[in-house]
Amino acid sequence: MAQVVVEQVRAGGRRPDGARVVDGVDVVGSLSPSRAGDFMSCPLLYRFRTIDRLPEEPSPEAVRGTVVHKVLEDLFDLPAPDRTPDRAAAMLEPAWQALLAEDPSLEALFADDAELGPWLVSCRETLERYFTLEDPRRLEPAEREMYVETLLDSKLLLRGFVDRLDVAPTGQVRVVDYKSGKSPSPFFEAKALFQMKFYALVLWRLRGTVPDLLQLMYLGNSEVLRYVPEERDLRAVERKLEAIWKAITRAAETGDWRPNRTALCGWCSHQALCPEFGGTPPPLPVVTREAVADPVLAPEDTA
Ligand code: SF4
Repeated sequence: MAQVVVEQVRAGGRRPDGARVVDGVDVVGSLSPSRAGDFMSCPLLYRFRTIDRLPEEPSPEAVRGTVVHKVLEDLFDLPAPDRTPDRAAAMLEPAWQALLAEDPSLEALFADDAELGPWLVSCRETLERYFTLEDPRRLEPAEREMYVETLLDSKLLLRGFVDRLDVAPTGQVRVVDYKSGKSPSPFFEAKALFQMKFYALVLWRLRGTVPDLLQLMYLGNSEVLRYVPEERDLRAVERKLEAIWKAITRAAETGDWRPNRTALCGWCSHQALCPEFGGTPPPLPVVTREAVADPVLAPEDTA
């Protein structure tokens, strides 16, 4: 049912000038959980990724996440009895080769087999930890890698990809997201759950009912974070997203994309251009002021 609703919502399009239209309504802008998270952690990072669209070097950790996600997605194509750790491990190398075929530049991540080998082992270990958390032979997901989007009353489009949606025979809905890293400390749990609440909000808007359970599976240390969302949570997330969008629009109008130095800067690919680290951002692209607030010019905000 979810897919049907999603397809209906996607039945919008673009005007000849490129403006996004959903159900005959002009979209004012769009947000995915990742981009909303970028802006919340550092407006300058949002600018670099969304406006300047600066390239970022893939890391072995990020590519491991992509490969493991792909195996976990494809695992459910197998007959249930075949969804074993050995079969999953056998799917790793083909998944890596398929990714390489899509993006040959990834080959540069590893100098030789001596570097590639341990990385593949780390992928296998990550997959093995998945099997300590649940038995995929007993599951039949309703959806995998499901694209969802919904338009808020403010005409802000929310969109993203849900790793997995489980629907029980009773109709209860569980939203599942895999993380190849370790679970966050309690201090960062709220941030991790924000992404899940974002998806819950979109699904609530699409299906008319709040999902029963949000489940984050941390394959880095075999932990699961579960949360039962309530309507008031999701209304609060909606208000927060509206506020984030207003702040983005304001930054676009003023050109004031402030850096916000935190511990997360260690993972930022753009330190060399960041004033917090002695760098100078490139000139704002000419389209920038309109780009963020105007869907005609806005770059696609992928999840
Ligand atoms: S280095 Fe830190 S402050 Fe600078 S852009 Fe990246 S995340 Fe923002």
